[in-house]
Amino acid sequence: METDDLKHLERCVELAYQALEAGDEPFGSVLVDSVGRVCFEDHNRVASGDRTRHPEFALARWAAANMSPVERAASTVYTSGEHCPMCAAAHGWVGLGRIVYASSSAQLATWLDELGVPPPPVATLPIKEVVPGATVEGPVDELATRLRDLHFRFHMGNGSAVAPGSNA
Ligand code: ZN
Repeated sequence: METDDLKHLERCVELAYQALEAGDEPFGSVLVDSVGRVCFEDHNRVASGDRTRHPEFALARWAAANMSPVERAASTVYTSGEHCPMCAAAHGWVGLGRIVYASSSAQLATWLDELGVPPPPVATLPIKEVVPGATVEGPVDELATRLRDLHFRFHMGNGSAVAPGSNA
């Protein structure tokens, strides 16, 4: 992992924090092209009631609409939390490149278990079980610790008013 990778992951954590401030689950993602330019970024928007509004899904759809297949394959997706199966599938179908995440789905599952949050309706799978050819790096322990704090704040701040499906 390089300095630029950490810089983009830091931005993902900031976006996750923005989501939390907006009353949403703390997840954020950044799409970076082959020359290191940030093309698109988003945070979780499932508080709208549409539980498919994960940032990685938004990135994949933006890439499909705005980048050539070659550009997509040369891009990197940075994300605060490892993709859920829906987002991993979108990533694979759209043909995006490397994924770098700050915290893993396994870590998230552990945190939600500690919090007593019911398991999501969609299975928690590593990205490579959904997209075997994906290049994936993560987690980054220091950032994962910060994200754990955001998830605890989200779930404890809201009591138990959290629908199942809390996943990135
Ligand atoms: Zn997702």
